[in-house]
Amino acid sequence: MWAMVLDITLVGTGGMMPLPTRWLSSVLIRYADHLVLFDCGEGTQISLRTLGWGIKGIDLILISHVHGDHIAGLPGLLLTQSNSARTEPVDVLGPPGMTDAVDRLRVIAPYLPFDVRCRDLQPGDTFELGGLRGSCTQAEHHVPCLAYRLEVPRGRAFLPDRARRLAIPVEHWRALQREEIVTWDGHTATPDEVLGPRRTGLAMALVTDTRPTPDLERLARNVDLLICEGTYGSSDDQPKAVERKHMTFAEAACLARNAGARKLLLTHFSPAVVDPLQYAQNATIVFPETVVGRDHLTLTLNFPT
Ligand SMILES: [Zn+2]
Ligand SMILES: [Zn+2]
Repeated sequence: MWAMVLDITLVGTGGMMPLPTRWLSSVLIRYADHLVLFDCGEGTQISLRTLGWGIKGIDLILISHVHGDHIAGLPGLLLTQSNSARTEPVDVLGPPGMTDAVDRLRVIAPYLPFDVRCRDLQPGDTFELGGLRGSCTQAEHHVPCLAYRLEVPRGRAFLPDRARRLAIPVEHWRALQREEIVTWDGHTATPDEVLGPRRTGLAMALVTDTRPTPDLERLARNVDLLICEGTYGSSDDQPKAVERKHMTFAEAACLARNAGARKLLLTHFSPAVVDPLQYAQNATIVFPETVVGRDHLTLTLNFPT
C-alpha cells in the first residue's frame, strides 16, 4: 500500500467577485508534504487561513489565466508567506503573459525573503513537484487560459514471496521496488521477477473559465476527479455562457461524461447563482457522479486497495 494520496479542498467556489457567502474559486491540493494552490483571487488567503492547511507551505501556484478573480490575491498571499518566514522558493506557473502580470503585481510586494520563480507555460508543457506530475492544455476564454492535469503515478506491487523464493537479500528489495536491477555474490535479479503488473495512478484535472473543447476532453481523459467551472446553473443561460466563454452545469457534465471522468466537482459559480444546489439536476441528469461544490468541501483521492 502506497501512502501517496491527494487531499483536495475547494478554497472558494465563486466567479467574478468574492461574496460574503462565497470566496473566489480556488483549489488547494496536498500531496505528501507539498501544497499546490490553483488560482488565487482576492481574499483567497483569508479562506486559506480558516481552512488551516497552512499558507507558508504552498510550494506551487498554478494560475489558469490573468483575470482578477484568479490572480489578484497573489501579492497578498506572497506577503503572508514572507511574514511566516518562508525562505524556500515558490513556483508560479501560468499561461503566456502571466509572468509579466505577476511582475506588475509584485510592485506592491517587491521584497520577499524567497524567490518567486514564474514560468509561462505553453499548452502541452509539463512540470513536476516531488513526484506529482503536471501537464496543461489550452482552454477557450477571452484571454490565454490553461487547464491542468495532475497525476500521481503508482509503482508496481512488490511481491515478497517471490523475492524470498529467489533468495534475494532484503537489502536489495528497495532497489528492485524502484525498478533497478540488483547484483550480489555473482547473482542478478531484475524488477520483473519480483514486481506485479503495471498499475494506473491517480489523476485529476482543473478546468475553469472556458468553453468545453475536445482539448479539454483529452486533458481530463479518465481522471478520477474533474474540477470544472459551472458558471451558470440554468441551461437557459447557455447563450450567455457562449458569449462570455464559460460553461453551464449541463455543459460541464457533458465534458465530464465525454472525458470518461469518474467524478465531477462543479465550481466558479456566477454571483447571480445564489444557490448552486438548486441546479444540481441539470448536471446529474447528464453525469450522475456530479457534486456541486461549496467552499471548503474536501475530498481525498486514494489508490484503490
Ligand atoms: Zn473567473
Ligand atoms: Zn476569466
